[in-house]
Amino acid sequence: MNNFGLNIWANKNFIIEDGEIKLNYKSMPSLLKITNDIRSTDVKGPMVLRFPHLIERQIKTLYNYFDKAIEENSYKGSFKAVFPLKVNQFPSLVEAITTLGERYNYGLEAGSKAELILAMSKTPNSANITVNGFKDEEMLTLGFIAAQSGQNITITIEGLNELETIISVASKCKLKVPNIGIRVRLHSAGSGIWAKSGGMDAKFGLTSTEIIEAVKLLKNENLLHKLTMIHFHIGSQMADIAPLKKALREAGNIYAELKKMGADALSSINIGGGLAVEYDQHEQAYARNYSIDEFSSSVVFLLGEIMNAKEVPHPDIFTESGRFIVASHAVLITPVLELFSQDYQEKLLNFKENNPPLIEELRELNRLLNNANCIEYLHDALDHMESLFTLFDLGYIDLQDRSNAEILVHNIIKKALYLKSSNPTNELEQLQIKLQERYLINASIFQSLPDYWGLGQHFPVMPIHHLNTIPLRAASLWDITCDSDGEIGFDPQKPLYLHDVNIDEEDYFLAFFNVGAYQETLGMQHNLFTHPNEYTIIVTDNGYKITNAIESKNILDILHSIGYNKEEILNKLKSKLEKSEFITEKEKSDTLSKLETFVHQNGYLRTTN
Ligand SMILES: *Cc1c(COP(=O)(O)O)cnc(C)c1O
Repeated sequence: MNNFGLNIWANKNFIIEDGEIKLNYKSMPSLLKITNDIRSTDVKGPMVLRFPHLIERQIKTLYNYFDKAIEENSYKGSFKAVFPLKVNQFPSLVEAITTLGERYNYGLEAGSKAELILAMSKTPNSANITVNGFKDEEMLTLGFIAAQSGQNITITIEGLNELETIISVASKCKLKVPNIGIRVRLHSAGSGIWAKSGGMDAKFGLTSTEIIEAVKLLKNENLLHKLTMIHFHIGSQMADIAPLKKALREAGNIYAELKKMGADALSSINIGGGLAVEYDQHEQAYARNYSIDEFSSSVVFLLGEIMNAKEVPHPDIFTESGRFIVASHAVLITPVLELFSQDYQEKLLNFKENNPPLIEELRELNRLLNNANCIEYLHDALDHMESLFTLFDLGYIDLQDRSNAEILVHNIIKKALYLKSSNPTNELEQLQIKLQERYLINASIFQSLPDYWGLGQHFPVMPIHHLNTIPLRAASLWDITCDSDGEIGFDPQKPLYLHDVNIDEEDYFLAFFNVGAYQETLGMQHNLFTHPNEYTIIVTDNGYKITNAIESKNILDILHSIGYNKEEILNKLKSKLEKSEFITEKEKSDTLSKLETFVHQNGYLRTTN
């Protein structure tokens, strides 16, 4: 049975039962039930469902594995973590992170001024804030303000100029000086499509010479007691653990050397993020070659070993894993609006009193096709179709005959696929791919899956119902933007098969999983499609609660957000309609109120017919 790779990517967060996909937690609600509940309130477009229990699970996993490794290795330092805001800054998510993380003293990492302001307002004083990225004097001053306000903040410098600015701010004001970290420019680079953060040509970090210079500067200014952290980050979604180990050896030795140079306050190594998430849906290509167990053990063991050899006390270990913490918490639900080849439905057949003999034969083949004769009849049908096309080209049959032939052959192939679905022949598989169905999804790939558009990152996708039946249509997914890049094509290497459903008669929903990291703020408003409606779902022992509903921006608001005057736009539309002729006053006022309603809805489609 096709389970859409659930065993690979789902980490036991979801299960298939009674033909539906369900949360594998407490009351185990199905995604279909939650979706229908929300849609019963007249919501029609795509939606993002957030599940805080999945964030809690990841935070707990991270802390538990590191604590276990620390115990097993008799490691003397402790484990600390911060959530990097750039991965997802949406309020419901950040709220969940800070609430669920409280008992662990889980903190926040900021990479820009806006993120720093957010971190300062959301992090309890008992947890840590770390700051990375390029900074100017104002941003560094914000760090001083945070320290002055009692926050446990460490500013990681990316270059010597930032250190010089810190020194100058410290000399100009009496605010408390924040802790200082140094990002080291590693010789070893990461691996995978996001690995541009490490290596000799890396965008960030200080070279050995600059590190020595930094320590001298700090010593001269009597600020060496503020140097507390060594930091590195080798890039996101590390596929392989080997580069991390090299980076740890490099950074660990730098740490130990600095301790020996008199950097007494140095107390932690921050290993950045990069812990990978499994996105793969097909057995042949796992996205990473290590487990969280191996990851945490390697980090703790290696750092312990280096420090023991250099006789330096064990540092605290910081991580800034983001993707690993939040990718799984969000599911994007997209209604399917249309299957493009529904034109091949049997009900559209339109026979004549006297049909050409080959059409009559196709009818018989279609009627009599069974498991025993199916391959033979299929070959006959394909053969007849070729002949019928030739007859059409030569003018012997008309367009109606040709249409009937296309529908009949289409149906014969579909029936054969169904009959042989447990054991399809090569030929059938090829036909299946040729007969690809295009599913129109009510969503924008640019808005909701930007990493697919920009980097070809695959996200697990599957229907949330119909899972008792074998999906037989080779599927490509088209979004509703007017852009040919808004398509997830059928890939024979990583095939997606979906169900043959009649959208006029029933709903069909696809869900994209592991979309909780990076996609939401990277999402683009191409064609002015905005962030979908979102809901936070609290699963309880006997049901679930739908909370924190945030609606997608309406049409006027999205126009406003790029600088248009809403009133002016609406007034213009109204006055044009008012001045129009040939409809009654009643029709005019009805149309005006329709217009009012439309501009206050979001831009996603509500129906297709
Ligand atoms: C982006 C980033 C992270 C988060 O990386 P993930 O791969 O999402 O874990 C952590 N630290 C720094 C410095 C970053 O730039």
